[in-house]
Amino acid sequence: MSQQRMEPASATLAHWSSPDGDPPTIVEGEGCYVTDDEGEEYLDFIAQLYCVNAGHGNGEINAAIEEQLSKVAYVSSAKHNDTRDRLADELAEIAPGRLSNTFFSISGSEANEAAVQIAREYTGAPKVLTRYQSYHGGTYGAGSLTGDPSTRAALEPYGGTATGKFLPPLPEAFDAEGEELAEKAANHLEYVIRNEGHETVGAVLMEPVAGTSGAYPAPEGYFERVREICDEYDVLLIADEVITGFGRCGEWFGIQTEGIEPDMLTFAKGVTSAYAPLAGVLVGPEIADNVREGGYDLGQTFGGHPLSCAAGLGAIDVYRDGLLENVRENAAYFEDELRELEAHDAVADVRGRGFLWGITFRDGEEPFVDPWTDPDADNPVGTVVEEAAERNVLIGAGRPATQVICAPPLCAGREEISDGVDALDAAIGAAFGRND
Ligand code: PLP
Repeated sequence: MSQQRMEPASATLAHWSSPDGDPPTIVEGEGCYVTDDEGEEYLDFIAQLYCVNAGHGNGEINAAIEEQLSKVAYVSSAKHNDTRDRLADELAEIAPGRLSNTFFSISGSEANEAAVQIAREYTGAPKVLTRYQSYHGGTYGAGSLTGDPSTRAALEPYGGTATGKFLPPLPEAFDAEGEELAEKAANHLEYVIRNEGHETVGAVLMEPVAGTSGAYPAPEGYFERVREICDEYDVLLIADEVITGFGRCGEWFGIQTEGIEPDMLTFAKGVTSAYAPLAGVLVGPEIADNVREGGYDLGQTFGGHPLSCAAGLGAIDVYRDGLLENVRENAAYFEDELRELEAHDAVADVRGRGFLWGITFRDGEEPFVDPWTDPDADNPVGTVVEEAAERNVLIGAGRPATQVICAPPLCAGREEISDGVDALDAAIGAAFGRND
């Protein structure tokens, strides 16, 4: 039986289920801008997937990769390589507190899975607790750590690992705000640890600022209490810095904006400014000794690839050269610009930190329904992303899809910030109708 088939736009299978319509085919990039195959230029207000932190086409990072390529392209991850060792030394320098040793991986998902394995071996406790409304990756193990239901539901039944979930410190979860929210949410985590049996819980894994799930910072005091609780019950605290690392929140790592030290930290994306795939797990000396002497296998062929490590060294140099300061200097301006969007009836909430911001929309007084929960629900939020692209600005769709995310390269100045927010303003107007 012959079947009529739609001609596919491209043989590439969509990477994510794409709520933003038909995305452009990007062929070039320079600084905060990318160009598509028809010569159309876009302001990259999401740094692709929150990862091109140094901006596109950076000559210093390109040169670092080329120099490594001229020396040796690949060295086994089971052997030493000078570039890899130098990057590990640099990471020890910028990492919070006692985090001094890096186990290199390839992607954020794999780094989180490695972190879980290391934590389990170190503590002898199998369970890892993560938050609802979180994203930790899309492979079987990391997918089940992820709290976002649309990712987790597809993976957890098959690749489920010993995980438990707890509520994020969001006002709607505890009907509280500020200090009261911090206290209630931290007490809830303690309740979960005790009821799971604290001796069975090896680690709590959290994003310092929840990234794809909405750019939510925790209320002040939350992480301090979480640190105390983890210490009290001998549970390792792992910071997932895949998005928040490498300057996105104004410090090298997002957890440094909370003033506490995690026991382990995972990173990816910004470590190379996404010029090459690289990820890793940072640990302190005791856990590092346990990995060295533990007698268990850990590692992947391309973990710590020398070309990626060279890109990492190049990117860190670029970040050192004023990009973290740029985020700190312009974060308040970014927030002020975004707050003006609250004039739209459809905008329920704006929040974030540094160069990572989320905007949630509402349907009158009610929140929109996430299309994952009800595919027939009337939810025009995806239209905001499309309308912004029509105005040559790329922004991201959040999970749940009741929000959008802005996270430009860290080299964005006031002009780019204001252009991006103006386009978003017009896109919201077009998607929801103007209320002026
Ligand atoms: N952790 C966080 C906080 C992320 O945002 C992501 C991806 O967006 C991951 C982990 C997974 O990283 P990757 O897509 O490199 O596997």
